[in-house]
Amino acid sequence: MNLKHLIIILLGLIGFYGMYYFVPVQKKLVSPIEISPEIKTLQTSFKNHIADNAKKVWQALSSIGITEERCRIVNKQRYELYTKETEKAFCKPEGEISNKTKTMINQVMLEFGVEPTDITVIATTKMLGTANACDKLLMVNEKNFSYFSEPAQKFIIGHEVQHILNKDHSTCSVIRNLLPAQEKEQLMLPRQHPLMQFYRFKEERADIGAAIKNEEWANNYLAYTKEMMEIYGNVDRPTHPKSSDRLNMAQNIVDTINTKIV
Ligand SMILES: [Zn+2]
Repeated sequence: MNLKHLIIILLGLIGFYGMYYFVPVQKKLVSPIEISPEIKTLQTSFKNHIADNAKKVWQALSSIGITEERCRIVNKQRYELYTKETEKAFCKPEGEISNKTKTMINQVMLEFGVEPTDITVIATTKMLGTANACDKLLMVNEKNFSYFSEPAQKFIIGHEVQHILNKDHSTCSVIRNLLPAQEKEQLMLPRQHPLMQFYRFKEERADIGAAIKNEEWANNYLAYTKEMMEIYGNVDRPTHPKSSDRLNMAQNIVDTINTKIV
């Protein structure tokens, strides 16, 4: 091998490694959209609100012997199992999700840092609501979904993505599994039961998590809650905050942004 060959090989190697170097550099160039100091203040205050409520709900769960630490350990061990169990039970797609909805879902996932290829998206007609998320599965009832405007639809997906990010589905399964046998199978427990408190907490966390991203998302939340009231009325189930409370929360977030930005 002469010097010319050696130089060619070396140049080739530099090019090869250069490719690997270039890919992450390119990714870094896509910088996130600047967040205004006003939005940052809003995010901090609502994150504190969520943290306070998390403390309360875990205190309630601790009172029946279910601690956050215990759940975290069990959840880590059972995470894959619950995902597969759920997929086995629910993952029977009926038809295809439209390309328009699929594109929007992918965009929303990317906006919140979820890799779309990690999540299975399926169409279903059996669900009463619009969308539902497990940790690795997103189910959409496109017929019910179509009753909502585009900003509201975007919010519905943004809300479900928060459930995915927080592993809410598997956490609820873990909590349920730790309940006494007679309570485990009951879908609806009394309103003040610690699991129902956790349900309402994770719903509020998903709403706020999506809404405080920026001004557009706050308005998406307001659009969704207004339309939800028009379509379903003022629903008050133990698993979700009352619809009018969700609307008030949305209005509160939008008002906070508007007074701070003007
Ligand atoms: Zn939800």
